[in-house]
Amino acid sequence: MTNTESATAIRLSRVSAVLLEADVGLLLVTPSADLLYLAGYGGHASERPTVFAVVPGQMPVMVLPKLEAPRLEGRDDIEIRSYGDGDDPHDLMRSFLGDHFGALTIAVSDQAWASVLLNLQTLFPTASFVPASPLLRQLRMLKSPEELNLLHEAGRRADRAFEGVVGLRFAGRTEHQMSDALDRLLRDQGLIRADWGPIVASGPNAASPHHMTGNREIREGDAVVLDFGGVLEGYQADITRTVHVGSPATDFVAVYELVVRAQQAGFEASAPGQTAGSVDRAARIVIQRAGFGENFIHRTGHGLGLDTHEEPYLVEGNELRLSASMTFSVEPGVYIPDRFGIRVEDTVAVYEDGPQRFNHATRELQIVH
Ligand code: ZN
Ligand code: ZN
Ligand code: ZN
Repeated sequence: MTNTESATAIRLSRVSAVLLEADVGLLLVTPSADLLYLAGYGGHASERPTVFAVVPGQMPVMVLPKLEAPRLEGRDDIEIRSYGDGDDPHDLMRSFLGDHFGALTIAVSDQAWASVLLNLQTLFPTASFVPASPLLRQLRMLKSPEELNLLHEAGRRADRAFEGVVGLRFAGRTEHQMSDALDRLLRDQGLIRADWGPIVASGPNAASPHHMTGNREIREGDAVVLDFGGVLEGYQADITRTVHVGSPATDFVAVYELVVRAQQAGFEASAPGQTAGSVDRAARIVIQRAGFGENFIHRTGHGLGLDTHEEPYLVEGNELRLSASMTFSVEPGVYIPDRFGIRVEDTVAVYEDGPQRFNHATRELQIVH
């Protein structure tokens, strides 16, 4: 067996147990991180459907277009059923899933295209459909040692890209130009560009946490939020640092230090047995006590793995208990409309004896030029 096949075998036997426990007769996974996780192949979402069918205790079946079948050549742990452009993939599914018509519960990927789901509902008119994520998150949230190593290594590489970017000239260049420069530094580290690309938000633009990197020219006196990462063998890095072009005002430094303290509080609260919501509370209370509660306008973090945003979500009210081998971002921020934004983000992993950071780039304010 190859490495992919052995990881796949372990994950498939675990998912079979989860399906049996939940009384789900069939799991249908379309191109997504879920597919990459279960099959070692992420697939390609298009008008030609790819559907991975898992029935507990049976060999899983991949239905995919003939022209993409060569990507799975040599895999003997998956039964491949490919269809040509003139064939109807749903006839194919009806032919081999025929036994499973009826009053069955079928779990479907959250990220399945509506067209795929609508066709499946026509194919299985009496079945009840449930989302696959509540089943799969139990598996995907708990990273294996190999997954933790990849996430940690992706984090280290993103750290090195940050060390490179602080040496570059910011003033007089646009957000797009800095984003491209950061992207090159990340690729030099062997990270593949994440679909969201480096976010560069300068001056008042940084007050919008998911700012669309644009053509604003960065000037002396701007704070610049750099939120970036990249992908290493499927696993994501995600880090944010806020730098300042030239000397900062005293009130900026005070808020910057506040955000760093909030991030530290969230990090320290990330212990096994604590709830995901309590990490959010720990970071938020630091910002609230300083009078900036209204300016922290998002949750404290999100799980990180094959997806940039996955479970667990560090959000108010999430009672999920953290346990060893979960990984997520801790990323509080303060956003002052029309002035500036500050966010500091690290990827954090939970271990039995407490949390560890997967990013080590300095959190001290970096002055750039
Ligand atoms: Zn980020
Ligand atoms: Zn993030
Ligand atoms: Zn480390």
